[in-house]
Amino acid sequence: VGQADAIELPRFAGLRTFARLPRLEDVGEAAVAVLGAPFDSATTFRPGARFGPAGIREASLLLRSYNEPLATAPFASIQVADAGDAPASPLDVAAAHQRIYDEASKLTRKGTRVLGLGGDHSVSLPLMRATAEAHGQLSVLHFDSHMDTWESHFHSRYTHGTVFRRALEEGAIDPASSIQVGLRGSLYDAEDLPNNAALGFHTVLAREFDVLGVAAVFRRIEEVLRPPIYVSVDIDVLDPAFAPGTGTPESGGLSSRELLTLLRSLGDASLPPVGADVVEVAPPYDHASVTAIAASNAAFELVSLLVMGCLTSADADS
Ligand code: MN
Ligand code: MN
Repeated sequence: VGQADAIELPRFAGLRTFARLPRLEDVGEAAVAVLGAPFDSATTFRPGARFGPAGIREASLLLRSYNEPLATAPFASIQVADAGDAPASPLDVAAAHQRIYDEASKLTRKGTRVLGLGGDHSVSLPLMRATAEAHGQLSVLHFDSHMDTWESHFHSRYTHGTVFRRALEEGAIDPASSIQVGLRGSLYDAEDLPNNAALGFHTVLAREFDVLGVAAVFRRIEEVLRPPIYVSVDIDVLDPAFAPGTGTPESGGLSSRELLTLLRSLGDASLPPVGADVVEVAPPYDHASVTAIAASNAAFELVSLLVMGCLTSADADS
């Protein structure tokens, strides 16, 4: 079952699912599912990402069926569905993460590959836990202006700025085969970047794009990643010109074209992820849906890549 027919039902009509795909409960099971994680109570500055999944779904109405650069029709090849939102309490970080994990692992245990829609970046922790349990320790491609490897904020260890340190402590991810792309902005201390490097993460700073260019940046990414790959897109990796609707914006970021090119390069390099997320879209600060459109387009590339990965592994199995 594919998208609602745009010839019969106008794109702006009908209930909102991601890309006008069927709901998971309508098709029973799916190879790839989109799962909302509308939670932002682990945010340290501007809240609002709890409205991210709804904003991305609204902006995704315009997604058509064919991915031309990747030469794939992701919704025609295999069942893709919208699994709705995890019922995450806004009042309890641990309980919310548990509910997100429960919903994600219900899917990953059946072999479904999940694209999570945040929510603040803390939701990546339960999503990566579920994905690592199904596929093994993850190699992470992390797009962000921030490292998100701090020890704590306000004496709390589970925040949107500590998610990758917690994930590596738990063994869900392998920093030596993970790379953070787009880092920039003011830091707390001169030791922040060295401390991050000491954890083992590879990095490409935003300002390195000027020297390297996108193709050379991807070559660095390609050198680091190995299966199973997880892609986490914090939308604040984009310059605020391309993504104003986010909680912790930093100037000097990537363009949406650079991000989309890097994502598609994973397909060209036969490095499809087994799980992914798009987080930190905060519609209350968005203008003209600029951020939600960028996020929905990134999500389309990620769904396409997840589908490509399913088809490749089905080939390998047969
Ligand atoms: Mn982040
Ligand atoms: Mn960030």
